[in-house]
Amino acid sequence: MNLRGRHCLVAGGGEVATRKVDLLLQAGARVTVVAPSLTESLQTLRDEQGFTYCPRPFAPPDLDDCVLVIAATGEEAINREISTLCQARSLPVNVVDQAELCSFIMPAIIDRSPLMIAISSGGAAPVLSRLLRGRLESLIPATYGRLARFAARFRPTVKQRLPFERRRAFWEQILQSSITELVLTGREAEADARLEETLRQAAERPTMTGEVYLVGGGPGDPDLLTFRALRLMQQADVVVYDRLVSQAVLDLTRRDAQRIYAGKARGDHTLSQTEINRLLLELARAGQRVLRLKGGDPFIFGRGGEELETLAQAGIPFQVVPGVTAASGCAAYAGIPLTHRDYAHTCVFVSGHLHDGSLSLNWPSLIQPRQTLVFYMGLNSLEAICTGLMEHGMAATMPAALVEHGTLPEQRVHKATLADLPRHIETANVQPPCLLIVGEVVKLNRDLAWFGQTATGGTM
Ligand code: SAH
Repeated sequence: MNLRGRHCLVAGGGEVATRKVDLLLQAGARVTVVAPSLTESLQTLRDEQGFTYCPRPFAPPDLDDCVLVIAATGEEAINREISTLCQARSLPVNVVDQAELCSFIMPAIIDRSPLMIAISSGGAAPVLSRLLRGRLESLIPATYGRLARFAARFRPTVKQRLPFERRRAFWEQILQSSITELVLTGREAEADARLEETLRQAAERPTMTGEVYLVGGGPGDPDLLTFRALRLMQQADVVVYDRLVSQAVLDLTRRDAQRIYAGKARGDHTLSQTEINRLLLELARAGQRVLRLKGGDPFIFGRGGEELETLAQAGIPFQVVPGVTAASGCAAYAGIPLTHRDYAHTCVFVSGHLHDGSLSLNWPSLIQPRQTLVFYMGLNSLEAICTGLMEHGMAATMPAALVEHGTLPEQRVHKATLADLPRHIETANVQPPCLLIVGEVVKLNRDLAWFGQTATGGTM
C-alpha cells in the first residue's frame, strides 16, 4: 500500500504503538497518534520526525480522512470498537495481536528497499515469522537494495533494446553473473560498463537458441532434488513433466512457467514418445528454456536418452541432471540396503514391463546367489515375476518387498516371501508407483525401517 503523504491513525501511545508509528513514518505516511500519554521513545520520534499528537482517548471522528488505522490501545473493548467502526467504513484496520479484529496484517519485513520481503503466518505464529526473518536477514546482503536500484536504472534501456521474450533471460544472466558482486561492493561504474557490453552483445545476436534441461525429479520427496535441478527448475520457461513427478516437486518449478503434462495431454490423449521428442524440439527452437522433468533419474528406465538423441541431431544444446532413482529412494526410505557384505554383492535393476502380456527376461542371470533384484514397473507383472523366479530356481522363501509410493508420506512397504507376496498384496489395495525388491537384504528392513510407521509384514 502506498502510504506516502497519506493520513494514518494510530490509537495508543505505548511500546507497541511506537514500533508501528516508526514503520508508518518510514513509509512516508502522515501519522496522527491519539493517546492519553506517549512513551519516551514516541516523544523522541515526534521530536525527530514529527507526527500529530492528540493527548486524549480515541474518538470516532478521529477516523475521518484516514486511509489506514492501527489500534494499539492495550484495552480490548476500545480496540474492538475501533475495529468495528473501521470495518463498517471499509477502512483497513490492524489491531495489534488480535488477528480476528484485523482486516490486514503487518508482516515481519526484511527491508532492502526498494526490495521488500514480507513474511506472515496469518497471525498464527508471529514468532515463527520473526525467526524466519532472522535467517533471511543473515542470508541476504544488506546492500541488496542496490541491485534493485541498479536494475531499475537499466530497465528502460533494456526494454528498448531487447524484445519482450528475451528480457527475462537477459536479466537472469545479469543477476546471476559477477556483475552483481560489483554492484554489491559499490563498484557501480564497472558494473554499468559490463552491463552495457552484455546488452550490446545480446542485442546483436539475432535470435536466442533455446535449450533443454533433462532433469531427474527423484522418486517423490522434494528434499531429494539436487541443487542444480532446483536451480534449473526455477529458471525454465516451459516445464514438460511426466506422470511420475510428484506434486511437491512440481510445485518447486517456476510459478509462471508454462506447464505441459506429457503423460496425458488434452483430453485423454497420451503423448507418444515421438510426439514428446518433437515437442521438446519445437519449444527449444522457439527460443525457450525447456525443463524436461522426469521421475527418478532420467537415464534409468526414463527414455531420457531417446529424447536427447533427437535434440543432439538438431543441434539443440542440452544438459542432464541426475536424480535419485526409485531404487535408491525406495531402498533408503524402506531401510533395505541394496548391497550388504553378508547378503548381496550385486544389484540388478530390471524392467518388469510386460510386452504383449508377457515378460521376456534373462531368468538365469536373475537367480544368481548374493544378488538383489529391483524391478521397476512390476506391479502388473508381480505374479509373473515371482512365479518366473521360482520356476527358474529361486527359493520360494526368498524375502521380497513391494515399496508403494516410496519416499512419499503415504509410503507403504509390503513384505512377504516370494511365494506369498502376490497373495499378500491382493487385499492391500496397492496403488502405483510401486517398486519390487527381491533378495536377502529385504530382511534388514526389520531393524532398519525408519521412515513413517509403514511396514506391513506378511509371512516370512
Ligand atoms: N526414471 C525413473 C523410473 C521410471 S519407470 C527412476 O529412475 O526412478 C517407472 C517406475 O519407477 C514405476 O513403475 C515404479 O516401479 C518406479 N517408481 C518410480 N517412483 C516410485 C516411487 N516413488 N515409489 C515406488 N516406485 C517408484
